[in-house]
Amino acid sequence: MTGVRVHCPESLEEATSLLGELDDAMVYSGGTAIQIMRKQGLLLAQHYVDIGRISGLRDLTATSDDLTVGALVPLRRMEKDPQVRRHAPLAAEAYGQAAHPRIRNTATSGGNIAYADHRLDPPTSLVVLDATVHLASTAGTRNVPIREFFTDFQKTAVEHGELITAITVPRQPDGARGSFTKLLSLGESDWPCASAAVLAVPDGDIVEIRLGLGAVAPTTVYLTFDITPDMDEQQAVDAAVDIANSAMDPIADVRGSAAYKAHLGRVAVEEAVRRSLKELPRD
Ligand SMILES: Cc1cc2nc3c(=O)[nH]c(=O)nc-3n(C[C@H](O)[C@H](O)[C@H](O)COP(=O)(O)OP(=O)(O)OC[C@H]3O[C@@H](n4cnc5c(N)ncnc54)[C@H](O)[C@@H]3O)c2cc1C
Repeated sequence: MTGVRVHCPESLEEATSLLGELDDAMVYSGGTAIQIMRKQGLLLAQHYVDIGRISGLRDLTATSDDLTVGALVPLRRMEKDPQVRRHAPLAAEAYGQAAHPRIRNTATSGGNIAYADHRLDPPTSLVVLDATVHLASTAGTRNVPIREFFTDFQKTAVEHGELITAITVPRQPDGARGSFTKLLSLGESDWPCASAAVLAVPDGDIVEIRLGLGAVAPTTVYLTFDITPDMDEQQAVDAAVDIANSAMDPIADVRGSAAYKAHLGRVAVEEAVRRSLKELPRD
């Protein structure tokens, strides 16, 4: 990059000091979004803090309860890694549908959520799975539930001087089944017009339905409701579509009008709910 300074800290302490001291510094991870925004003249930052040399940020560790994903773990690893596929298959499915393999090889898990686009695929699964984002700055560390992380259109809870170090993803509950549906109107590896991640979690007679919606509102949306024993599958689908519909506020663009995106949002929810329910273990 010309006309800018790229800093390459060797430690988290050095990185957070730079981010705290410099007014217009940006974290540089995979660079997939930054490079495009620079080419489009949308980024005026003079300092980039490339975190690629900091050890530990590429680690992916699994316990019996959760997965901790370093901020530099590529999207492609989230799609393919056997631990992710075993512990959080819904996340592996959503990460595996973001953009195309070339982007997924370079783009990072931290950069993905920091980018904060309302159409991102992985966050729909992360809100459903109740992930936690770990942040660091010179003031110390803090954790933010992903359900509170996306605060407004293209805005997150990351404050000046902070960077994302990791995301913790709880293991999918025993017996739960998930499904991710992404609907597009342009090329097959394009941004979605609408997407829905659904997790059906059995709890006695009740099935809790958790819904994460992408591209149909200014931020990723999280919703939940219960299917009670008196409801058949069609009533469950109708309830999911109703609750999703009330939260939709799509932004019209080259991919479709607001009405078209809301329609695709309802279709995505229906498809993901039906597929999740079909996979639930029967007594
Ligand atoms: C052609 C194209 C198509 C795409 N299609 C899709 C799609 O269909 N679905 C989808 O989900 N995504 C899509 N994306 C978005 C892609 O997922 C993001 O570009 C990518 O995840 C960003 O990660 P990165 O590591 O490259 O971030 P970078 O480009 O390095 O950074 C992006 C932003 O995040 C900040 N940042 C990066 N890392 C951190 C960190 N650790 N802490 C704090 N801030 C940080 C940067 O300062 C910058 O503001 C597409 C992107 C492109 C270029």
